[in-house]
Amino acid sequence: MSFEVESLCGSIDKMMQKYLPPEEVRRRDEQADPPNHLLKSFAKMGLFDLVMPSQDDEWDRNRWRRLSIIQERLGYHATMAALLFNRVACFGMMTLNMSANQAQKDRFLPQLAAGDGAFALALSEAGAGSDAGAIQTRAERFEAGWKITGRKIWISGAADAIRLIVAARTDPKSKGGSGITLFMVDPYAPGVAMSKLEKIGNRCSLSYDIGFDEVVVKDEDRIGDVNGGFDCLKKTLFYARSGLAAAVVGTAQAAIDMATAHARQREQFGKPIASFQVIAHRLANMQTEVDLARLLARELASAIDSGKDCSRLAAQAKLVSTETLKRVTEHGMQIMASAAYASESDMNRYWRDARLYSFGEGSSEVLLDLIAADMGVGRGVAR
Ligand SMILES: Cc1cc2nc3c(=O)[nH]c(=O)nc-3n(C[C@H](O)[C@H](O)[C@H](O)COP(=O)(O)OP(=O)(O)OC[C@H]3O[C@@H](n4cnc5c(N)ncnc54)[C@H](O)[C@@H]3O)c2cc1C
Repeated sequence: MSFEVESLCGSIDKMMQKYLPPEEVRRRDEQADPPNHLLKSFAKMGLFDLVMPSQDDEWDRNRWRRLSIIQERLGYHATMAALLFNRVACFGMMTLNMSANQAQKDRFLPQLAAGDGAFALALSEAGAGSDAGAIQTRAERFEAGWKITGRKIWISGAADAIRLIVAARTDPKSKGGSGITLFMVDPYAPGVAMSKLEKIGNRCSLSYDIGFDEVVVKDEDRIGDVNGGFDCLKKTLFYARSGLAAAVVGTAQAAIDMATAHARQREQFGKPIASFQVIAHRLANMQTEVDLARLLARELASAIDSGKDCSRLAAQAKLVSTETLKRVTEHGMQIMASAAYASESDMNRYWRDARLYSFGEGSSEVLLDLIAADMGVGRGVAR
């Protein structure tokens, strides 16, 4: 396995150097220009084929572990590339793979695997962030299918998506996660209105506020059972958390390498600042934290491969990796000081981007609640 993955990582290095070199990452971040052209390169390298079960048992036993290494490598080069890959692989392909019927798989999986576009997940609303079960967007049955009405916010990559996966309440009397269904919606269907949101980081993953005004969706575009939307999302969650954990470990390693190189070269008081123990120990702690986060991310990927229940591990890997990236980039900013504060420095992009991951896709506080509940402590414990 190590040889194949090493050679794949070598190919990723070459591909990224050719199609998204560091100066291009900076330009795209500054101009909020998503690197969608990479989808074709990922497809050409066969990276999306790795997401699907193969005929090869040995390969399947290590599929997510291999993918975790690939996702980390992409995150090392550019978080924007890893997140784009994950949007196709996890939200798109794995949602279809785990919850769609054969006709839906036949229709969309080849398109995604060929790099012809991505899916976007439209779950969050103004009143439903951490509490995703509070969504109010509704889908009402009529003879020709369903009519969706409501508003979603902060939906990544919506305008470029082949389809939005929209979570809508189909049982008006239901509360929380029950009574919600997933639909595949064309982002350019009549009744869909989008506006772009401005933000401080992750500028290459464009975010949209989306209004749905009686948008007509055929029943054949419903994913999974009516009222079973949250069960479908839960099945995809582990893959999404595994992908994100690996990607941010890669970005954290890039931040450490940059801070280390700077500390070795920058001289103050007649010495490289790396020779001051406070800086050297700070770097040593950063590396240790990232190595631990990597172990957890790989452990999660292995647990997915072995088919184990990994709810707790998925929460822990996402929690540790995203909080680690936040700390590491904060230290990176301090070690590089004015050199990191300059707009063109990669370090401040890592630092700005890092703010998102500890609340997007499950905030650290909510993840701690999940881990606590799994331990039998926290809110659920009766007096
Ligand atoms: C750039 C960006 C991209 C995004 N992309 C998508 C996307 O593609 N699709 C999508 O559906 N959504 C997306 N989101 C939305 C994202 O998932 C939400 O921002 C996230 O779920 C948190 O919701 P919130 O921002 O409303 O914070 P809130 O839920 O209001 O939380 C605020 C704070 O309160 C804490 N908190 C909340 N509940 C509890 C509790 N029970 N106990 C303790 N603390 C609690 C939270 O941890 C947080 O610190 C994106 C957001 C951003 C900013």
